[in-house]
Amino acid sequence: MPIALTNATYIDRQAESMQTGTILVSDEPQGGIEFVDNAPKGADTIDCSGKIVTPSFAIAHHHIYSGLARGMPAPPSTPTNFVEILEQIWWRLDKALDQDMIRACAHAVAIDALKCGSTFIIDHHASPFAAAGSLHTIADALDEVGLGHLLCYELSDRDGPDCRDAGLQETQDFLEHHQGLVGLHASFTVSEPLLEFAVDLANKHDTGLHIHVAEDEADQKFCLENHNCRVVERLHNAGVLESPKTILAHCIHLDDNERSIIADSEAWVAQQSESNQNNAVGALDARSFPDKVMIGTDGMHSDALGAARAAYLMAQREEGGMSPFDAHNRFRRVHDYLESNQFEGDSGNNLVILDYNPPTPITIDNWPGHLMYGVSRAHVHSIIAQGRLALDNSRCTLVDEDALLENCREQAERLWEKL
Ligand SMILES: [Zn+2]
Repeated sequence: MPIALTNATYIDRQAESMQTGTILVSDEPQGGIEFVDNAPKGADTIDCSGKIVTPSFAIAHHHIYSGLARGMPAPPSTPTNFVEILEQIWWRLDKALDQDMIRACAHAVAIDALKCGSTFIIDHHASPFAAAGSLHTIADALDEVGLGHLLCYELSDRDGPDCRDAGLQETQDFLEHHQGLVGLHASFTVSEPLLEFAVDLANKHDTGLHIHVAEDEADQKFCLENHNCRVVERLHNAGVLESPKTILAHCIHLDDNERSIIADSEAWVAQQSESNQNNAVGALDARSFPDKVMIGTDGMHSDALGAARAAYLMAQREEGGMSPFDAHNRFRRVHDYLESNQFEGDSGNNLVILDYNPPTPITIDNWPGHLMYGVSRAHVHSIIAQGRLALDNSRCTLVDEDALLENCREQAERLWEKL
């Protein structure tokens, strides 16, 4: 049954048009919207008087495996650098995950993402001792809540050949029947044979790679010492940057040559400025490739708009300034990535209804300014995900969110006890 949104003020994804009227939302897979004179008889109708309707948001780089990390116990000793943060926090956490915890992570993230206005997650997953079935578990959980997804398993040699092979097996099994990417953790934990194998695997499935790039200087140091080149040079030589589906996350510690390699490549870049601040690793300067950057949350949270605002503020110093219009383009670029690569689940019938009653006028020209300075997750009223009402007045409609979150808290306690 199509949904009709009456009295809706609709602002398109590019912030190029603003129109008020009745919107008919297709319930077809990959469907869109159209303005109609009247809601058709029998359609489910939602009165959007006083509200803004716009395409829902998407997250370009997430870590669902950290979905139960909020408030977890501190590590046994305080990390003093980025690699120690990985070793003492995230790699201890991901090794403790089992399938029940992974499912709970995915439910926790999906519910939060939806309440923050997103209907699509590009995820980078690791669970070294529960790799088998993990991507399938995450996909099922996101499907239940109503989110589209583009998943991968972060392959690595960091935990030895058995864990590496389990990740490879899960990647291969998943890509047989789902859209997805081939994940790699980062250059410094990926051997030459694994890198070659991963690129071949991505080519075989006509997809791209998803990898952390120069998040910290340590990635560059290891690469120079072990591969006699810099990280982007290594990935470029291996063919990682040839796919327009490839995502390079972070890209902070680059030299001029690496910047121009990325600028001339097919690859896209995911920015996570809050995570970068949390880890004290520096900040992205995207001036060499401004049209490639999209916004992720890196497992910190699932608020894409909040992450875009943080990137916008960071860019004022790190990138010599940024306009709200450019920040809006960066926030929305993930849709261009998904659409140009023909990934499914982010079509025109994904919408967020914002209960946003501002003290100043909204025009099509100043909408990016409202997004950067005014709109927040608090204004997300309802969500239509692939033509279905998935969030109604801040409550999930496709799942029992209270029961799922109760289970999340139980799984979090199990996880924390294992740490
Ligand atoms: Zn990440």
